[in-house]
Order: sequence, then structure tokens, then C-alpha cells
Amino acid sequence: MLRPPPQLRVSEWAERHRILGSRASAEPEPWRTSRTPYLREVMDALSAVHPARRVVFMKGAQVGATEAGNNWLGYILHHVPAPVLAVQPTVELAKRFSRQRVDPLLEETPALRERVAPARARDSGNTLLSKEFPGGILVLTGANSAVGLRSMTARFLFLDEIDAYPGDVEGEGDPIALAEARARTFGWRRKAFLVSTPTIAGRSRIEREYAASDQRRYFVPCPHCGEMQWLRFERLRWEKGDPRSARYHCEACDEPIEEHHKTAMLAGGEWRATATAEDPHTVGFHISSLYAPVGWYSWEQVARDWEAAQG
Ligand SMILES: [Zn+2]
Repeated sequence: MLRPPPQLRVSEWAERHRILGSRASAEPEPWRTSRTPYLREVMDALSAVHPARRVVFMKGAQVGATEAGNNWLGYILHHVPAPVLAVQPTVELAKRFSRQRVDPLLEETPALRERVAPARARDSGNTLLSKEFPGGILVLTGANSAVGLRSMTARFLFLDEIDAYPGDVEGEGDPIALAEARARTFGWRRKAFLVSTPTIAGRSRIEREYAASDQRRYFVPCPHCGEMQWLRFERLRWEKGDPRSARYHCEACDEPIEEHHKTAMLAGGEWRATATAEDPHTVGFHISSLYAPVGWYSWEQVARDWEAAQG
């Protein structure tokens, strides 16, 4: 009984306990970090044993960022129980997040199912916006609600889609500052996860947060020459009007890289900091949709969407 709990990291917890999608897909399957290898370091920075207090994740669509956040929530509920505040842009979106993301997470993962009573049970401590579990509570709220953001002190803050937060919440100032003030009493043990797809350059919150971080980028090896590089849109080339011809061109040897090379490139990748953080306790990760695993969002689709957006 007196043995300290094992110091699992979030990715290890997910590999051991997380079951995915009996709702979405036909067959429930265990989480595998190898599918999205770039999420490992992001998740592990969220682990209680990691010194980072703020983890910034600027990401494109279809890279699995939401699941990284869900794994963190599951890890907290099961492994480091404490008060958690999860903030969506609005209270309405928080309700939707609860129904579409949190409930499946709790129902599909046996280790969590036994810790949180079903919502239907009377006095279960489980409502749409509040989930009690042994040793803690998960509260969901919207960045448009000053009352919600002030409702509790929280050791962990999950600040999702922050580019859609209002600049000022009901005359009380910046919602992120308001939420982070609620975690201060937890000192070095607190942790905030700031996630968003960037919106407008120069006005983006996540871009500003990332710029103040150590600006990690995921470097992957060229399948032809081995040069490590991070993927950028300018190096994706295709014949105009023919997205199927889209190939990525290595910045060192300029050889075309095919979609099917991506899996091995992601597996061989590594995060590298490209700046020094203003705050040493902040780590920042940036990954675009060019990194989406094969079968999720292809380079052909990137080209197709780009063409469709012209004009
Ligand atoms: Zn190359």
C-alpha cells in the first residue's frame, strides 16, 4: 500500500489502457502510439514526471491532437487524480465535447469505466459538464463563461482550440489568463495544455504562444538521401489541376517523395527545438496536416483542398 505509484508517462498509459472507438469504428482496438509517432513526445511532456508546466501544441487538422488530449485526461483520471478544468471555446462546445469525446473515452476504456459512474445514475457525481472520480474531478466549461473559468482551482488545464476563444470574457479579461490563475495554487505541480489549429497569421493566440516557446518541429528523414527536415507546404508540388500528381520534394536532394514513404518517415522522425523559450517551463510543438498518417489525410487531398480554396 505504501509503494509509490508507478511513474508511467502518458504514452505508456495510453498503450496499456486506452481502447479506441467501439462507437466510431466497428472493432474496438487498443491505442497504438506508433500510428502517430509524433504524438509520443507531446503526450509525454504532459506526464506528471515531466518538468514542463505549459505544453503548447499548434497543429493542423487530422493529426490526432484530440486523442492526445483524451489520453492525457484518461491518464489523469486513472493515474494522477486531481482537479482538471477542460475549456472549449464556448459552453455549448464544451457540452458537445463532453458527449462526443469524454463520454466515449470513459465508456470504452475499462480502467476509466470503473472510476466514473454512468451519467444516468442518480447522485453519480457524473453530469454533462462535471465528472467526479476518486481523488479528483473533471469540469468542462467554455471560454465565454467567466463563472465557469473561476469555478474551481485546478491542477491541470486542458485549453482546447484557443484561437476560437474570445479576447475578453464578460469584462474580466483574457480567458487563458483567467484559467491559468486558477492553477497557480498548485505551484510547480500544475500543468496546462494549450492546443489549437492556427487561424489568422498575426492574430493567432496559438501562434503567439508557440513563438514564445522552444518551437519544436518534427524532423523526418528523406527516404532517398536521409536528410532530416521538417515538412513545409512550399515543398509539395503538383501539376496544376491534377492533385493526384502531388509529391513532396526533399529540401536536400529535391527527389520526389511519395505518400507511402510517410509511414517510415514518421517512424524515423524526431522533435528538435528551433528556439530558446522565453519561459523555460514552456515547451511548444508544431505539426501540420502534411504529417497526417497514411489513410487519414493525404498529400493529394492537401493539394485538392488548396486548389478548391483558390478564389
Ligand atoms: Zn533527399
